[in-house]
Amino acid sequence: MKTAIFVAIIALSTTAALAQGVGYTDTPQIRGQKWKVHDKDRPNPPEVNPGATFSHGAPAPSDATILFDGKDFSAWEKDGGGAVPWKIVNGYMEVVGKSGGIHTKQEFGDSQLHIEFATPIEVKGDSQGRGNSGVFFHRFFEIQVLDSHNNKTYADGQAGALYGQWPPLVNAIKSPGQWNSYDIVFEAPKFDDAGKLTKPAYATVILNGVVLHNRKELNGPTNHRATDPYKAYSGKGPISLQDHGNPTRFRNVWIRSLGGYN
Ligand code: MG
Repeated sequence: MKTAIFVAIIALSTTAALAQGVGYTDTPQIRGQKWKVHDKDRPNPPEVNPGATFSHGAPAPSDATILFDGKDFSAWEKDGGGAVPWKIVNGYMEVVGKSGGIHTKQEFGDSQLHIEFATPIEVKGDSQGRGNSGVFFHRFFEIQVLDSHNNKTYADGQAGALYGQWPPLVNAIKSPGQWNSYDIVFEAPKFDDAGKLTKPAYATVILNGVVLHNRKELNGPTNHRATDPYKAYSGKGPISLQDHGNPTRFRNVWIRSLGGYN
């Protein structure tokens, strides 16, 4: 009973925070910025129609590592270990809600990732509850996946946001059910022998051929309603895809290593 009341209070307070606008007022300030995490007053990016797309279904470059070609999950495992609990249908994978996230078995350092995604054609939920997933580098850094088509949410949670840190420059998402492409260049952070950060992580993100982030600095791991400091690690890690409870689809996933730690 106590637990039920506690959960109800948490749910009410979350609803209250969201009800003031789409976003929050009670979150910490983002380091180096004037905005709070998921700030309800932070302007949303303008919409841009990406026009014709040219890379969907295209073959990968010859030196790429194929992470998903529509046939099997051999490059992936469930977070925490074990077989991937998601579906493969008609050459794409689909999140099975509440089954858990997945990540690549192989780890990568600085890299160029191509991944295509489609949010559910049946529009359900709103704000962060619609077509939410995410592409994570090294488990720490999320490039948001969301149905941002006619869906109000906080700016730093839009599709393509460096979650909780940087909204995308523009909203270039396609309508639900259509395929989008991400091309992401990720530079891993570097640390000295004492574990002190010597170079932050950077992300360049292109959605449907439109630049959302041009080598944007990450100020630490991305998080919900919080700002986390960097913690030293090897500079290598897997690519992870988030289970946020929505049946978002992915296909044609490949990666190229860019040197550095590789
Ligand atoms: Mg997400």
